[in-house]
Amino acid sequence: MSFLTEDKENIAPLYGKADIEFVKGEGSYLFDSKGDKYLDFVAGIAVNALGHQNLGIKNAIMEQLEHFNHVSNLYPNYPQIKLAKKLRQVTGFDKVFFCNSGAEANEGCIKFARKFFSKQGENRQKIVTFVNSFHGRTYATLSATGQPALREGFGDMPLHFVHVKWNDVEALKKEVDGETCAIMFESLAAEGGVMTISAEMVATVNELQQKFGCLVINDEVQAGTGRLGTFLGFEKYGLQPDLVSMAKGIGGGLPLGVVLMRQKIADQLKAGDHGTTFGGNPIACAAGLAVANQVTANGFLDNVNARSAQLKTGLAKLVEKYSFLKEVRGEGLLLGVVVDEKVPVNQVIDAARAQKLMVLSAKGNVLRLLPPLNVSISECDEALTKLDKACASI
Ligand SMILES: *Cc1c(COP(=O)(O)O)cnc(C)c1O
Repeated sequence: MSFLTEDKENIAPLYGKADIEFVKGEGSYLFDSKGDKYLDFVAGIAVNALGHQNLGIKNAIMEQLEHFNHVSNLYPNYPQIKLAKKLRQVTGFDKVFFCNSGAEANEGCIKFARKFFSKQGENRQKIVTFVNSFHGRTYATLSATGQPALREGFGDMPLHFVHVKWNDVEALKKEVDGETCAIMFESLAAEGGVMTISAEMVATVNELQQKFGCLVINDEVQAGTGRLGTFLGFEKYGLQPDLVSMAKGIGGGLPLGVVLMRQKIADQLKAGDHGTTFGGNPIACAAGLAVANQVTANGFLDNVNARSAQLKTGLAKLVEKYSFLKEVRGEGLLLGVVVDEKVPVNQVIDAARAQKLMVLSAKGNVLRLLPPLNVSISECDEALTKLDKACASI
């Protein structure tokens, strides 16, 4: 039985999967059972922010395994406290809630935002999000997600979520008033097509937040943890969120979700209002601290920005060379190339895989590149050469 057949026989059919059996990862590379070596510019969809088998993460996990795997959130533990301290120090936020995934972090943000107003006797429930956004697969985060197709067949959704067009400031102004609970968005809309935020939208969000006292929730699940060249994506644009969700990269491959909140939000929460059994798992938090320490170390984000410039220049050359490549998008190491509709992006992905380069897609026929943040100059050159050969084969 082939590997993929065995997968199909046992695993629910919820993903389109490639027929590759990976057996080992090392830095920016993955090795399969045939001995083929792939350059990994998917990085577990931005989860493997420091590549595979990062020594700092490995050591932190091994260290924690000597103590305990889990103690329950009925007891404080140092892996959580140390990571929370580090995140507060780096971001300037006041309190941290740990959970296990991006959806759960966003779910927490939504609940905390509504609770914040409810505790002050205000019934503010409306949350404004954006068309083609992605916030997760739970009911509330699916309701927040601006992709109706993903909600189909799942019955009634939590109410009071509205979606306006990305960067459409007039539409945004129309939806936000004194009864709005929050404006929620990714600092760079990744799944939706690698869409960057306009300066006008940033100014409008800041203005509406001031004027109406609504909360701003930044979903940093994919764009955070250094991916845009700043520790959190919103820093790059001058936003002032009240709540921030993190996941993907921060756990360095382990499931870890984070909500960062301002003191005024924490002031409205008490024991029992929200919780999770596994959230803030000590091993995941130990790995998270190793990630946060490395991403904030001197020079680390300089590499993200330098590799970003290198890749953008190289991709722009490919756009010039191949008429079916239209435009380079993105910031930092969350990059996209718009592909002409007559060439399905999956064809480009397959051609790249044939060159042993792993890349992925985003909505709108966009090719997406998410290399590890510690990717090297030569690895970026190698990716560009492989992508060039892949395009030539189309
Ligand atoms: C991946 C992602 C999520 C969902 O995270 P899960 O861990 O899959 O629940 C939410 N928001 C954004 C921006 C994401 O990229």
